[in-house]
Amino acid sequence: MPYFTLDTSSLRHWLTEHADLASRLGGNPEDWMIREVSDGNLNTVFIVAGPDGQLCCKQALPHVRVAPEWPMPLQRALYEARYMRATADAVRPAAPELYFYDEEMFLLVMECLTPHEVLRSALIRDDAQPGFSASIGQYVARSVHATSWISRPFEVGSKLLEEFSGNTALTRITVDLILTDPFRPCSRNPEAEAALLSDVTALQDNKPLHRAVGVLQDRFLTARQALLHGDLHTGSIMLHRDDVRVIDGEFATMGPIGFDCGLYLGNLALHACAAPHKQDFIRTEIIAFWSSFTNEFRALLKTGGGDVWALSDETQREELLENFLTSILQDTAGFCGLEMIRRTIGFAQVADYTLCPTPENRTQARRKALQTGQRLILDASTVQNLSDVLALLTLV
Ligand code: ADP
Ligand code: MG
Ligand code: MG
Ligand code: MG
Repeated sequence: MPYFTLDTSSLRHWLTEHADLASRLGGNPEDWMIREVSDGNLNTVFIVAGPDGQLCCKQALPHVRVAPEWPMPLQRALYEARYMRATADAVRPAAPELYFYDEEMFLLVMECLTPHEVLRSALIRDDAQPGFSASIGQYVARSVHATSWISRPFEVGSKLLEEFSGNTALTRITVDLILTDPFRPCSRNPEAEAALLSDVTALQDNKPLHRAVGVLQDRFLTARQALLHGDLHTGSIMLHRDDVRVIDGEFATMGPIGFDCGLYLGNLALHACAAPHKQDFIRTEIIAFWSSFTNEFRALLKTGGGDVWALSDETQREELLENFLTSILQDTAGFCGLEMIRRTIGFAQVADYTLCPTPENRTQARRKALQTGQRLILDASTVQNLSDVLALLTLV
């Protein structure tokens, strides 16, 4: 079927022609309840509920959903399907199951997470059961371990490079929106509030900062350590009580492991800027993330299997692994800083700042995020352990 944009009525018809999906819903097509739940920037998402079950249907649009004048290749859905398939066995049950991918309709049909809620919304409502970050740490360790050169023969990595190297349109978004635009005047940056203008000008004139961003640009584009989720912010996580799931892997690319860690921690840190009374809670989540990530990664890497470190005995492996983790932490600090800045003054800002009770509080929160982000980027290479990162975040 050639591509067209689905609405609730054409999706109902499409599902009737896919018997195994229809049978998951049960009943008759006219009984199915279909509602659109899109809230991301890029795609259309529908929830379909039948008497026997529910499905989540996500379709790529030929443009950015929230900016129809901005064209965007449909292929991003293919990369999301590939990411789900490449990581499913390693991360199960921490991601929804992919039931079907339609290559012509650029449509993913997956397990419907219900009654789950998006983590960012749960945080804003102050209703996320503490400890969720340990699940995310485990998810990142498992997904990157399964796709890294340390655990698999290099042929596996080469195949992944080939499968994901075409995801250039979304990598371009990352390069522009995260790694470049916030640091220069750019039409995609929304106009900053007046009280923040001098902060933004100073940041855009900060030469040492731009040099440090250059190092991170290089890391992002050339350190092909493992398959990344690529967009691991608190809006790409859904949870219900202690059931935590990662969604929305369309930005998948081979890259530095600290990129996934840094985006996640950057969104937690931003939340602490917007809601200073929750600093202790966020600090505990950051510690839980890092200890769960490192414990799981260490445990998984006890056994080798890759061409990297193939000659090392157990003592050497441990030393190499600890050095590797330190370098991941340094990348994490830098990308955390980039995320804090871009979510504060860049194209895609976050709802967490709506928690600030007054405009003055909001300016203060944003200023803190900009200052913290710059400090993290400038000092990333000096970080030796998580306490150093917490000190840069002023969450000690
Ligand atoms: P986008 O790529 O446009 O950001 P997302 O994959 O983030 O799209 O999905 C947008 C929204 O759809 C999510 O914030 C969530 O509310 C809902 N959603 C996505 N996947 C599922 C799922 N498997 N089950 C239930 N709801 C989902
Ligand atoms: Mg999303
Ligand atoms: Mg979303
Ligand atoms: Mg997305």
